[in-house]
Amino acid sequence: MFELSKLNYDYGDLAPAISAEIMQLHHSKHHQTYVDKLNAALDKYPELKKLSLEEIIKQAVFLDDDTDANAIFNNGGGHLNHSLFWEWMTPKGQGEPTGDLKELLVGKYGSFQGFVDEFSNKAAGLFGSGWCWLNNDGSIITTSNQDNPVTFDEGKPILGLDVWEHAYYLDYKNVRADYIKAWWEVVNWEKVQEMYESQKNAQA
Ligand code: MN
Repeated sequence: MFELSKLNYDYGDLAPAISAEIMQLHHSKHHQTYVDKLNAALDKYPELKKLSLEEIIKQAVFLDDDTDANAIFNNGGGHLNHSLFWEWMTPKGQGEPTGDLKELLVGKYGSFQGFVDEFSNKAAGLFGSGWCWLNNDGSIITTSNQDNPVTFDEGKPILGLDVWEHAYYLDYKNVRADYIKAWWEVVNWEKVQEMYESQKNAQA
């Protein structure tokens, strides 16, 4: 049984970038629903339940029953992505990364601001619901729905931004760009760097 991830901060702590109202709804309703539907869909597949969440999502596409496959793939992705998303934010946003990660981004995008602009443009330009990701090779990609790059072998994300309307509509209405701009203030670069370093060590 998967469980809703606990937050390391209170619902109101990311304001004004993200209001308590959005955080509460996003965590206790949207994320909880992904968890509940994932658990319900996995009920018939005890073998799948033994695997890691990433593996469950990857294996779901091979199920004969399309309804179950979609339910596990989409809700599994929702649980994976949101569990990461909460950790990628902090009330004590550090502004920018340091060390090797900063070097990688500056090397690829000219400056840290160049990276921020590129990521923001891609996130703002994504049509419909989905996510924008920074992978550990410095590439920036977007995916639809609750798709995560790891489940398509399209990279290992070390940072991701939820650009579904449920993530910002109450605060920013239709102006996704303002949400993205404010979000940078609460990015937990310490966590991003930790993921970058641990994946680099795993590859070495
Ligand atoms: Mn969401």
